[in-house]
Amino acid sequence: MTDKTYGPDKLTINQMHSNKEDADAAEHLYFFTGDPCKWGHIVPRMAVNGRCAECSRLSTSKYYTKHRARPRKLLTKEEKLKKSREYYDANRERERARDRERYKKNRDKTIARTMAYYLENREAILEKRKEYRRKNKEKIRLKSRAYYLKNKKN
Ligand SMILES: [Zn+2]
Repeated sequence: MTDKTYGPDKLTINQMHSNKEDADAAEHLYFFTGDPCKWGHIVPRMAVNGRCAECSRLSTSKYYTKHRARPRKLLTKEEKLKKSREYYDANRERERARDRERYKKNRDKTIARTMAYYLENREAILEKRKEYRRKNKEKIRLKSRAYYLKNKKN
């Protein structure tokens, strides 16, 4: 194991300096402290950043595996547009279906609630209606006239 060399200067661990400063001064790429890194690798460290050579190797290979396994597919503008339209359509359908379902489920309840409210507040509602009619006589007259004319034409 001690014959293993590191970097372009092919230094074995025995030939390396034990600290970053000496390695820098000798223009070595690696130095070796003999202490494990936080992941327990007892290997040389890189003089440029003090990083464990094994950690560095692992993170590099992990990076390559990840990016080679799942290459990013670049979509054209048209594909992107098509995709978002599909997504929109799919979700709109889903939302609509959900609304229909909700309505169906609550229809009886809604009607019952409205009826109950009406019966309970009949007097007040009728009173309000009367008052509205009194206050909006002209508006109602025009409206019913418009309604009349429209239905006459048909
Ligand atoms: Zn390490």
